[in-house]
Amino acid sequence: MLATNGRMKIAIQRNGRLTDESVALLRSCGLEFEFQQQGLYSPCRNFDLDVLSLRDDDIPEYVQDGVADLGIVGENILGEKQARVHILRKLGYGLCRLMISVPQRSPLRSVKQLNRKRIATAYPTTLRQYLRSARVNASIVELSGAVEIAPSLNVADAICDIVSTGTTARMNGLRPITSILESQAILVANRQSLKHPASRKLIDRLLIRLSGSLEARGKRYIMLNAPASSLPTLKKIIPALKSPTVVPLAKQGMVAVHSVIAGHVFWDVMERLKQAGASDIIVVPIETIIK
Ligand code: AMP
Repeated sequence: MLATNGRMKIAIQRNGRLTDESVALLRSCGLEFEFQQQGLYSPCRNFDLDVLSLRDDDIPEYVQDGVADLGIVGENILGEKQARVHILRKLGYGLCRLMISVPQRSPLRSVKQLNRKRIATAYPTTLRQYLRSARVNASIVELSGAVEIAPSLNVADAICDIVSTGTTARMNGLRPITSILESQAILVANRQSLKHPASRKLIDRLLIRLSGSLEARGKRYIMLNAPASSLPTLKKIIPALKSPTVVPLAKQGMVAVHSVIAGHVFWDVMERLKQAGASDIIVVPIETIIK
């Protein structure tokens, strides 16, 4: 719920993998604040919002209890803490998976073979749920960190831990057996804050900005000139948002085409446009797209 000073609070990770991108995302929404990593509060100068820097493990519960109205946290942490919060949207960063892995030389190859084995993890709740649904009766060794060394210490036969690229797991001599959860950073809200008209209004304003900024991620705006006769070919090449803008030029038979292109196909599209007769191609980054 809104504090008596009329300001809302959003909790983000104090110091870790989600911190920089969470700060950058809030700033891309036009929020101006000095991020106080060591302090608790970073007030926004131009929005009724204070950014709280907290341990990410604590964020689900703080949002559930109304200490913060909003929070940014990994789905892996939310799943583990089982807090009663409302999920507003996925944010597209902090991508990782919770995986069960075994030492390279282990004879274990499948989930079923984990029956009566020991699995070390910092995610006991998530793992227990998975094992129950997979009908595997393994014992869970609960650790708070350095889970990857558990097999070498002979305290576990397998581990269940967060993996993003898989490089760390390989470096630790581990082989994945299965993925039990896909995770990314998400925005969550306190349920009471969503019901309260004043905080709901602020949350909705923030959501529009966030969606605009996330929608624009990696996208570019392109402008080019081309003979009008090449338009049918160009339209096939440009995967436009809805349809490209086509403007006739002063020079007879020539048009200017404006459109939006996703970053991952950008160079490919550029080359094909050039081949199809486009010239004077100008590319600019996009800050936001409000639909
Ligand atoms: P950390 O800063 O290591 O506590 O990680 C914070 C969050 O970043 C985790 O809870 C995950 O949601 C996410 N994350 C993404 N990739 C990884 C990874 N390779 N290892 C750990 N966490 C990751």
